Amino acid sequence: MAIQEQETAAEPVRLFRINTGSCNGCDVELAVTSAVAEFDVEQLGCRYTESAREADVLLVTGPLTVKARDEVLRLYAETPRDRLTVAVGVCPVSGGVFRDSYAVDGPLDRHLPVDVNVTGCPPRPQALLEGIRTALEIRKARREGVEPIHEPGDRKPSHADNFPARGRLSFDAAACVDCRMCRHVCAAGAIRFEAGKQGVRLTLWHNSCVFCGLCSHYCPTGALSVTGDWRLDHRAADAFRQVDRGEVLYEPCAGCGEAIIPAAPQLLHAAFRRPNPEIEKLKNLCPACRQQMSIGVPRR
Ligand code: SF4
Ligand code: SF4
Repeated sequence: MAIQEQETAAEPVRLFRINTGSCNGCDVELAVTSAVAEFDVEQLGCRYTESAREADVLLVTGPLTVKARDEVLRLYAETPRDRLTVAVGVCPVSGGVFRDSYAVDGPLDRHLPVDVNVTGCPPRPQALLEGIRTALEIRKARREGVEPIHEPGDRKPSHADNFPARGRLSFDAAACVDCRMCRHVCAAGAIRFEAGKQGVRLTLWHNSCVFCGLCSHYCPTGALSVTGDWRLDHRAADAFRQVDRGEVLYEPCAGCGEAIIPAAPQLLHAAFRRPNPEIEKLKNLCPACRQQMSIGVPRR
């Protein structure tokens, strides 16, 4: 029997919201899950409650401000011991753009156990429903003493997939030239680079990304793009799997053999529109050999 049918047949699952100092973006999206029939949590056999003492599932928004922390922990202590906690939005999961703020004491799992993360800034109502569904799966599995088997992203497509909206970032290593502009503009600190023996690895953390799209806007080659994929709910235990990775491989400089990241065709097109054979020759050279070839400056 489907989870929602079981829950509907029995007592409804009670959802309790805690705002730990959010901008209210996630709270507005949560309001949609009680005010708009298409996204109503009742379809999962749930309803909202005003009492922490009867909470089956906690939905926590915000980066956990220092000012709200004690009150949040007091409320949490009032909830039943078998409640599940869902971190709603990127703020409680990683801090998002507030992660280094003096006014924030997150992320949430520093203070209390979190079962499900629904990342996004804010997550769409469809993602919230999926996150609550994941929490219900964990709840059912715990009661039966088994491990939940759901893998994020393995659900059937629905009409909700067609909504145009910002979602998961996608990275194409073949187009990347390692300029690191993306990391420079990312206020959420979601992009990291790591130099290895074979090349440079870019890691994009979905649990930190706020979908602002700045990296995609400023990337000169189109290596990063914003997709409409909103399916980012996952068990908190899987948080470190929520990444997009790619390695930009080194090649030897055609002049001196030094390991370099060659210019991608997309970069040459953006810079010169109609690259000619002379420009093409420069693309596989290191900066010193390029300088020598183009203006005749001898290598140091
Ligand atoms: S090419 Fe794009 S993805 Fe690669 S480092 Fe530069 S901005 Fe980042
Ligand atoms: S969209 Fe790009 S710049 Fe914006 S938070 Fe995500 S990774 Fe950072």
